[in-house]
Amino acid sequence: MRWLAWRRLRSAVRARMAAPAAGEPEATVDFLCNVCGRDNHQVPLIQVQNREFQSCRHCRSSLRMRSLIYRLSKELFGRVLPLPEFPVSKEIVGIGMSDWEGYARSLEQCFAYTNTFYHQPPHLDITDVSEEMAGRADFLLSSDVFEHIPGFALGYAFKNARRLLRDKGCFLFTVPFVKTGGTREHFPRLHDFRIITTAGKRFLYNRTVEGDEEIFDNLVFHGGDGATLEMRMFSETDLLQRLTAAGFCSIEVCVDNVPEYGILWPMDWAVPIVARA
Ligand SMILES: [Zn+2]
Repeated sequence: MRWLAWRRLRSAVRARMAAPAAGEPEATVDFLCNVCGRDNHQVPLIQVQNREFQSCRHCRSSLRMRSLIYRLSKELFGRVLPLPEFPVSKEIVGIGMSDWEGYARSLEQCFAYTNTFYHQPPHLDITDVSEEMAGRADFLLSSDVFEHIPGFALGYAFKNARRLLRDKGCFLFTVPFVKTGGTREHFPRLHDFRIITTAGKRFLYNRTVEGDEEIFDNLVFHGGDGATLEMRMFSETDLLQRLTAAGFCSIEVCVDNVPEYGILWPMDWAVPIVARA
């Protein structure tokens, strides 16, 4: 694996050399993608710094994906390895929640890892976790899922994330969140609801606990199958409180900057959060 170490060093040097001066119009970055282990050259900095842009030319990993794998390596092994160099450790139990295929397949090869889904097998409803599943996982990955969970079930979701983990197990978590203020629930009285499509436009119909009817338009759907309606915009303060209340400790908001792996966060919000059970 010495050649990979050399490539990492070379990428680090190039990342520094290519670091743009302020105001330069076409700043680019060279980096080694820590998801697929392949080199990227002259990728526009604005793409690399975009949380969702598929900026690896090979595996299409985004900043969010590379950041999660970077953190997973640190938390499991205490050091940073690209995913292709992860040791095979089948005694490590991992659970993914609708994880991106680009790393789920590699995680399956390395660990006793199961990628689960709300709408298809292998099934996991994080708001309703059975006793048999509790306390078994060393890590739980949940990337941009919790913003889709209905408000009335959200407390169960955080508690069950903790329940799935062994003591000292690791919750690697992303959701869109803002730094200040409180969480903004888009549908605060959600109870008995469904999505209605009329003339090609989607609406949310809700009947509240009190029996009032509500209709919402201007819905925000995220990509992917299943329930992808955005239910809220979290705030960091609220997330930290919810994780603490669920029994997590050592909660860290991870603004990582690792140019050699194409991990360059231009902001300190909507970044990964790592919480220990
Ligand atoms: Zn890649």
